[in-house]
Formats: sequence, structure tokens, C-alpha cells
Amino acid sequence: MAGEPQADCLFCKIVAGEVPATVVRETETTVAFRDINPQAPTHVLVIPKAHYADAATLASAAPGLAADVLREAGEVASEDNAESYRVVFNTGSGAGQTVFHAHAHVLAGRGLQWPPG
Ligand code: 5GP
Ligand code: ZN
Repeated sequence: MAGEPQADCLFCKIVAGEVPATVVRETETTVAFRDINPQAPTHVLVIPKAHYADAATLASAAPGLAADVLREAGEVASEDNAESYRVVFNTGSGAGQTVFHAHAHVLAGRGLQWPPG
């Protein structure tokens, strides 16, 4: 069923506490944790606790939960004292998505080029 935990999903395992992560914020519906391979001084992943494959699927099925993820992205940036930050949702393997549980990358703490690579 939509949103149910998936046995083979790394981020569902992080939500369940079966895989350790450096959690920086948690709400009833979301978890934010530091990326294991940071691309900037602040590189945090914000995920819904419920499983959706990507951001658009999440937004279609559970728009309030998508809004929770976006709000938490801002909270993470503000806790790391980032006035400017970037939120990225890689969608599809061609765009670099490797974990198919929706997640926002929050990047800050260095110059961020535009357009991104
Ligand atoms: P994607 O490539 O799907 O947009 O993002 C997945 C992110 O998850 C990558 O930036 C990768 O470094 C991160 N990642 C992969 N495995 C782990 C893990 O076990 N723990 C944490 N904290 N991050 C992970
Ligand atoms: Zn999942």
C-alpha cells in the first residue's frame, strides 16, 4: 500500500532504527539526517517516514507530507545557520537518484553554483 515501509529500502531502515544515522531533526512525519558522503559543509537528507519512491509521487499521494519535508528542509538550514541553501530532489537514475525513497538534499555552507551540474 502507498506509504508502507519497504523491506529492501535503506531509508525505511533508517526510519526504523535498523541502520544508524546522524539524525539532526525528527518530527512525527519526517526524519532529517546527515548524508554519509557530504557534498557541502551542510548536507542533510530530509525524508518522510512513510515510503514514496520520489518527490512527485510523494506530493501526489500525500501533499501535506510533501509540505512537511519542505518545511523541515528550511528548519535544517536555519539550525545550521545557513541564510542561503539549496534543496534538491534527484528524480530517476539519470539524475543521480540512487535511493528510491523520496528525500530532499539540503546543501549549504559553501558557494553553490548556478546552474548546478
Ligand atoms: P540520491 O543519490 O538518491 O539523490 O541520494 C541518496 C543519498 O543518500 C546520497 O547522497 C548518499 O550519499 C546517501 N546515502 C547512501 N547511503 C547512506 C547511508 O547509509 N546513510 C546516510 N546517512 N546517507 C546515505
Ligand atoms: Zn523507504
